[in-house]
Amino acid sequence: MTTPKSLQTALIHSDYQAPPGFSAFPNAIHHASTVLFKDVAAMRSGNWKDKNAYTYGLHGTPTTFTLEARLAQIEGGQYCLLAPSGLAAIAMANLALLKSGDDLLLPENVYYPNSELGRWLSQDFGITTRYYDPLIGAGIAALIQPNTRLIWTEAPGSVTMEVPDLPAICAAAHARGVLVALDNTWSAGLALRGFDLGADIVMQALTKYQSGGSDVLMGCLTTREPALHDRLALAHMRLGLGVGADDAYLVLRSLPTMKLRFDAHDAGARAVAGWLKGRQEISTVLHPAFEDCPGHDIWKRDFTGAGGLFSVLFDASYTEQQTDRFVDALKLFKIGYSWGGANSLVMPYRIAGMRKGWRHGGQLVRFNVGLEAPQDLIADIEQAFAAM
Ligand SMILES: *Cc1c(COP(=O)(O)O)cnc(C)c1O
Repeated sequence: MTTPKSLQTALIHSDYQAPPGFSAFPNAIHHASTVLFKDVAAMRSGNWKDKNAYTYGLHGTPTTFTLEARLAQIEGGQYCLLAPSGLAAIAMANLALLKSGDDLLLPENVYYPNSELGRWLSQDFGITTRYYDPLIGAGIAALIQPNTRLIWTEAPGSVTMEVPDLPAICAAAHARGVLVALDNTWSAGLALRGFDLGADIVMQALTKYQSGGSDVLMGCLTTREPALHDRLALAHMRLGLGVGADDAYLVLRSLPTMKLRFDAHDAGARAVAGWLKGRQEISTVLHPAFEDCPGHDIWKRDFTGAGGLFSVLFDASYTEQQTDRFVDALKLFKIGYSWGGANSLVMPYRIAGMRKGWRHGGQLVRFNVGLEAPQDLIADIEQAFAAM
């Protein structure tokens, strides 16, 4: 110690500094609420928006700035903002871009909590929320009103898997000055280039493939336009949407393997879905790479891959009791929401009650194919069919 201090103070103030120049592959985990300024002038000139400087833990650290930059690069965007969950990222976009008197359009198959948020905005915030057929394409032009500000798209819808015509929706929206946000979680930003197809904002639930470990909740919004980023960043600041440093590190740690994992999920899911397609228990395979799936041609045109997530419709002769027995009989597929981790998951949905205008009969069951050997997953499904 160079300056004499009482032990009590010395416990808090130390003169030791680690030698500079350390270099290693992992990113440093910077935990910080308080960020220190060199002097008063540096504090006074500090701006929370400036990603070349630090002002407060909520506004960014080297760890979160690094993650944002990597995510923007994957998505083909310029700017990225992290949020504590995928749903928080959705809420950030809505609160940044909508005010009382505005109109919001959501697809009928939208991620359920997003539609729940839309209902809240309608009930209590003077924003109208209307729902459109996800296969509407250019027909969305007829739904756009002078006060419509934002259209959410989801490619594909996360339970019923319809693939929307994003370029057609974006063209109709942009002709009327309406912004389009894309929930691109299904393809992890790897198999669908949202900005190239016209989206203004691309959202990810980083909880899924970016985490890859079933252990982190996080989301983000990526943009290309600086003015749009600024509007989102203001809401991010006003709402205090910080993420924890350790969580950011876990996502940074998983990103290098994401493409390999995604491709393995894709291959496994297509093997399982292809086997299911040949079974008499299943009437329809709702996997965008299969012809049964509404919007399959659009998937072929716009996507370069698929992920691990798809749904099936059972033959209408099977009751809910039977398909529940099937789900309970599965051993490798665990019953749980979310996806993108190594473990396979399954979830039955009472879709007719959730989806206005759902025309199909038969029980809907959603599979998330993890990283297990596909033949073991198929054997698991086969024994569960027998138990049904
Ligand atoms: C999981 C998910 C979300 C929400 O992410 P959370 O981090 O769980 O809030 C949003 N959209 C889609 C399509 C998702 O799969």
